[in-house]
This record gives sequence, structure tokens and C-alpha cells, in this order.
Amino acid sequence: MKLYQARTIHSLEQDQAHTHIAIDDDGRIAAIGGAELAGQYGAADTRFADQVMVPGFVEGHAHAMEGVIWKLPYVGFYGRYHPDGDYVAGCDSVPALLARLKELDASMPADEPMFVWGYDAIYFGEDKPMRQALDSVSTQRPIVIHHSNLHLITVNSTALDRAGIDRDHLIDGIYTDEQGEPNGELAEMAAMFQVYNAVGNPVFGGFNDAAGLVRYGRSGRRSGVTTAADLYNQLEPETVATMQQVVNDQDFPMRLVSTLGVMQVTSQAAVTRAIELRQAASDKLRLGAVKIVTDGSIQGFSARVRQPYVNGVENGVENGVWVAPPPAMEDMIMACNRADIPVHVHVNGDQASDFALQAFAKAAAEHAFQVPHVLQHAQMMDSQQLRQAKDLGLNINFFANHTYYWGDQHCQQTVGSDIASRMNPAREALDMGLVVALHSDAPVTPMGPLHVMWSAVNRVTASGALLGPEQRINAAEALCAITLAPAITLGMEQEIGSLAVGKRADITVLAGDPLTVDPMAIKDIPVVATLLDGKVTH
Ligand SMILES: [Zn+2]
Repeated sequence: MKLYQARTIHSLEQDQAHTHIAIDDDGRIAAIGGAELAGQYGAADTRFADQVMVPGFVEGHAHAMEGVIWKLPYVGFYGRYHPDGDYVAGCDSVPALLARLKELDASMPADEPMFVWGYDAIYFGEDKPMRQALDSVSTQRPIVIHHSNLHLITVNSTALDRAGIDRDHLIDGIYTDEQGEPNGELAEMAAMFQVYNAVGNPVFGGFNDAAGLVRYGRSGRRSGVTTAADLYNQLEPETVATMQQVVNDQDFPMRLVSTLGVMQVTSQAAVTRAIELRQAASDKLRLGAVKIVTDGSIQGFSARVRQPYVNGVENGVENGVWVAPPPAMEDMIMACNRADIPVHVHVNGDQASDFALQAFAKAAAEHAFQVPHVLQHAQMMDSQQLRQAKDLGLNINFFANHTYYWGDQHCQQTVGSDIASRMNPAREALDMGLVVALHSDAPVTPMGPLHVMWSAVNRVTASGALLGPEQRINAAEALCAITLAPAITLGMEQEIGSLAVGKRADITVLAGDPLTVDPMAIKDIPVVATLLDGKVTH
């Protein structure tokens, strides 16, 4: 038995704040209260006496790729922290980006393909570098730039040549210039895999990566996460074996919920594999849910939207791209629901949400939901869609960081300011009584629940504009949206998500109080430590 004292403990169970928490030898919470607990449990450990304890953060939509992808050089617009803590400066102009690529080119063996990640074309508008710009870096080696949304790549001519892509061999997702030549930008898996198959695929071929998983754990720990989703994984047997080895190790600092990605498999095969995977689960490694990707990303102009994109034609699309066409999505949702398999559905655009809601309505009519199903991102849902989700009993996990990272671009380039100002409508969804979680989608945006919380509370864009203030939520609601609500979306609320007697002692220790600091300072509160099953992680 162990008693900890803190300045304040927010349990999220009652309004009242506490100062002491007792944890039994199995890592469960035995009691929570005030100084009187010392009488029963002995002297308190006071190492966190000046700090604030909250339930361990639950990142309900991120990817283990957040750890894997750092084996590649980062070339994103904004500077970012490596999971090990080093800061990598951003490439915030085209010349800066090309200079970084040239530097890398000079440092690499002559024929090795170059893969980098984190790039986002939308910040460069019409100046965005295409194949010719990359050819100025090298025509010797293939160059593959992964966009931060992971739905697009930009490549040089050498990569296109090796993949056999030219004006006579075009498929959906291979974008072209005014002359009809491939311009180097490729969207979504079918097109991207033509390049990967020819030059290699360290990102999507890199799921079985023990070092990457270890880095993912570090990334979670430094941002206060004690349970993280890995929301799309092919979960091949070797990958699962590696995960068991890494995650079940007592030094791995968080629980991992890895969901089976079910593109390019039949619904029958998906159901069989999801059920089989339950056998490989443990206290720390959760398996058995399924992830469907329906459309692309809004900032990549590949989310399926009802109204054409503002700059859609310039970007080669009007209404986006289907990743799983609606009939395939419906078949998968119905088959999984029939087998009581939790389903996470990626829906970014409003049209994608329409079709997912239709599919869930059909599924519910056939077999009442026994497990949580979740609409992931759900950024453009309107009032009627939210109402329908509520009536069906679906949960929502919004991509709150979008307001900051792409809010300005959404107003000017993608969906226009009317829709942008009500993207990720957390206020409205909470008022309807929906379960609302918030996420980072790391590595798409940096792992960091406090930033996600900050974004939903303040709704400030990177340029400092206030975007959709009527959709702001308060700090207590936002804290719930990064702890208890995502625990519900992962089916784990009986165990984690709040600090209550009998639950696991997964705790995040903060240097400041997110419920009382200036709301604009929430993102800057230092994470002091995390506890998993009552033990301080290292
Ligand atoms: Zn994602």
C-alpha cells in the first residue's frame, strides 16, 4: 500500500478536489481523500506534494507510427520535439525545405532512396514544390516526401520513373499538371503504393518495429499519456509478437490499444482476425477492435466533402477521395457489429460522415450495439448528423488540434470560414449529450493532450485568430475529453479515465492546475511524471 500527497487531485468523479490518494499493491486505487488518509495508510510520499494529479491522459486516436516515423528525417513546417526530447526546427519556407533536402542528399550514399516526413503542402500555397523542385535536389536517387497527414506523398521524377508512372499510366490519386504529366503528388494508398512497391516503404511497411514502439512509449510518457491508441495497424502475427514483447515489458510506460486496419481485406477476414487477436491481449496491450478509413484529410483536399473545396480544382479534386467506398464501408461496419467488434471509423468530410451514419443505422437496425463504436475525426459534422449520432449511441472523437494547425488554411483554402468556424463542434456535441473525446492523431500533429485540450478551450489558430468561439468548451469539459471520454471510446472506462476506488492508478502529474491556470497557458503546463498501475514510469 502506498499513499501519495499532491497539491490538488482532480479525480473527475466528483467536483470536489482531493489531496491524498492511496494505491494498493496491485496498482488499484484504494482510497482518495484528504490528510485523514494518513491515519489509515501511514505517512504520505510527498514527492508530488506541490503538484497536481489528474487521471492519466488517454490518447484515443494516435498511431504507433509516431514512434516509427522518427527513423526518417523530419521536414515539417513547424518545429517539433523528437520523442527523446530533442527539438527539430521546422522548414517554414520552400527554400528552407529544399536546403534541408540538399543537406540530406549530400550526407547519403549515392543510390539510396531518400524518405522524409512531416511536410504539409498547404502552408506553401501555389509555391509548393513539385517534382521539378525535387529534381533540383537529385535526379540520381528517388525522393519521397511524406505529407504530415500521411494521405499524400510528393516524389521526384526518379521515383515516378522507377514506379512506371507517366501520362499514359494514370490511376486515381496520381495528380497531373496542366500538360497532363504527373506532377509528383500522389494521394491515398492505391497511388502511393505504386511508388512504395518500386522504391521501398519504410513508413507503412514499418509496423513491426520494436525500436519504433519504444519511441512511441517515450513520446506518450513525455506528454503525460498513460494509455494510447494505435489506430491503424495491419497487426500481422510478427507485429503482434513484437508488440507483446515491448508493451508487456514492465518498463514500457503506457497501455497500448492497437486496432486492426481493415483496408484491402474482406469483412469476413476482418472479423475472423479481430476475434483471433483478443487472445493476444493483456492488461497493457489491448487488441480486438477494428479501424476503417473512409476518406482522406481535409488539409490534403482528399476528405469527402459535400460542397467542393474552395481551392479544389487547383489541387486536382473537387469533393475529395474515397479510401473505402461507401458500399465496402457499410459491409464492414455491419459484419463487425454483428460480431460485437468495436469499430472506429475515420470520417473527416461531411459526406463521409453521411455514409458512415447511414451504415451504422442499418447495422443498428439489424443488431443492437453491444460495444462502443466511434466516429473518428468527425470534423465537419453538422447539427443533424450529431443528433443522428446521439440517437444511434455512437461516440465521437474530434480532431481538436485542427483549429490551431489548419484553421487559417481551412478558412482560405479548403472549406471556407463558415464551415471552418464550426469544425470539431465540441460545444454543440456535448450539449446534445454525446461522449466527446479529443485527439492529436500523432504523428499528424504532435502527441500532447494538453495542447489538444488547449485548442478546444481556446479555438485559436496559428495566426492568432479566434475561430468559432461558440464551439469552445471549458477546461473541466476538455480535461474529461482527454481522459474519461476517450477511455469510453476504447471501452476501458471501468478501469481507467478517472480516479476512483477500484480503478487502475494511472495518473498524470502536472506542475500546474489545468482547471485554474489562464486557459491560454494550458498547453505550457509541464508534465512532471506519469504513474502506471501506481508505479512512477521512467
Ligand atoms: Zn489517424
